[in-house]
Amino acid sequence: MRVLFVSSEIYPLAKTGGLADVSAALPKALAALGVDMHLLLPGYPKAIESAASKSVAVDFADFMGAGPMRLISARTPDTGLPIWLVDCASLFRRSGGPYQDEEGRDWLDNAQRFALFSHVAARLSLGQLLENWHADLVHTNDWPAGLVPAILAEGQGQRPATVFTIHNLAYQGLFPADLYPQLGLPDATFNPDGLEFYGKISFLKAGIHYSDRLTTVSPTYAREILTAEYGCGLEGLLQRRAQDLIGILNGADYEIWDPTTDIHLPANFSLRNIAGKRACKTALQKELGLEADWEAALVVYISRITDQKMADVVAAALPELVEIGAQCALLGNGARHLEEQFELAACRYPRRIALRIGYEEPLAHRLLAGGDILLHPARFEPCGLTQLYAMRYGTLPVVRSTGGLCDTVVEASDGSLNRRPATGFTFESANGADMLRCLERALALYRQPLAWRKVQRQAMAQDFGWEDPARRYLALYQSLVPQPVATAKAVANDPISESAAQ
Ligand code: ADP
Repeated sequence: MRVLFVSSEIYPLAKTGGLADVSAALPKALAALGVDMHLLLPGYPKAIESAASKSVAVDFADFMGAGPMRLISARTPDTGLPIWLVDCASLFRRSGGPYQDEEGRDWLDNAQRFALFSHVAARLSLGQLLENWHADLVHTNDWPAGLVPAILAEGQGQRPATVFTIHNLAYQGLFPADLYPQLGLPDATFNPDGLEFYGKISFLKAGIHYSDRLTTVSPTYAREILTAEYGCGLEGLLQRRAQDLIGILNGADYEIWDPTTDIHLPANFSLRNIAGKRACKTALQKELGLEADWEAALVVYISRITDQKMADVVAAALPELVEIGAQCALLGNGARHLEEQFELAACRYPRRIALRIGYEEPLAHRLLAGGDILLHPARFEPCGLTQLYAMRYGTLPVVRSTGGLCDTVVEASDGSLNRRPATGFTFESANGADMLRCLERALALYRQPLAWRKVQRQAMAQDFGWEDPARRYLALYQSLVPQPVATAKAVANDPISESAAQ
């Protein structure tokens, strides 16, 4: 089975968050199951620079009026999977991020950028760009690839099957209607029973409306997005498509996120030999200028600094967190006004709160290894990967019970009726008081080393590897493109992959 996996972020070529991790790890796991996976990514300069074995596969003097466009054929640097990069200088060759400039402003031509990207994906999958290649199935991800299923569904003749994965419903790719003529789509699709969303063009709605099957990244989020509270206005459409929507929990790539082998750590450690974690904590306190206080619980926060991640609530709670004895190490970037709130708290407690504004992948690894508690709250959370990584590093997560956080973290407080082993701490409401009470419970357990160690061991023993989720995706692919794949095992009666319609 030939699959074209279309994403606007793929680690290590381009990353702003979890989408990149998933877009690297899931194709790798599917390839290991025998699926012929090919990736497609916009040709951002850094992505082209770091891709391996590059050659030009096709070269257009002009593509859709955007000027020269080359399809670069390459391999991912770490996993060696085949990847094509859409090298269109006028749209992708610029400094800044995938969606925003260096000042954090959305690129004004995002609609044109990702429409062109989607047209390349559609034509490639149909066999119209390369002589000997077409796809049986196209797996598209989030709004930047949302137009692909629409273009394919509206085209003539045979087309590949389509799967669309919602990694975050809150990012919708909404654009003014007057851009529509520039996007190369038929007039018929711009209506409420197509990709129009209250008078605007919605790339996300296009993906949801036109693809054959929909997935999202946790079972709980699959149910939540059918409600007005989490549906971002798309709950009606999602309810209509509930039979085609399933939640498949994301995995963690333990080749990258494993303290036993992690190359970014000053010392490695494992479930059986945890001594190195102490060395990681001491080194981290030193690196960040925190007091060399082994006794203090070190609370780490690694996140986009946004409302979704309750950054406003976290910033306001920091002084109290310090007053109850914790140290805090914070890494993130995002909304400037929220970053400023973090800066104020860090200035007030220089030896108890360390702050790094920015995006630093190696530091994220060192924080997970050196921390005791990961603070990872959210107003909504499709899956969340950081808490999965934290558990493997013996850093117990404090999360709000929402979306994928519900599906992955089991409360440790006494009297919990959970039958699954406890792995962290959870709270219900998105407010500072509830979050602080939860943190107090975490700190109380931290002061009981034996009890702490037990939960830590349980967290480290969790297996959120990609094998199991990849089998679920494979079963989904096979339901759309029936053909035998030698190593595939069908997934039946599964507790953590379920249709939202159930
Ligand atoms: P989301 O995709 O909503 O941002 P996830 O928890 O699913 O949240 O994934 C976040 C990913 O991005 C993790 O790999 C995390 O380590 C990483 N990350 C987030 N912020 C930063 C940062 N400032 N520096 C380095 N890594 C970060």
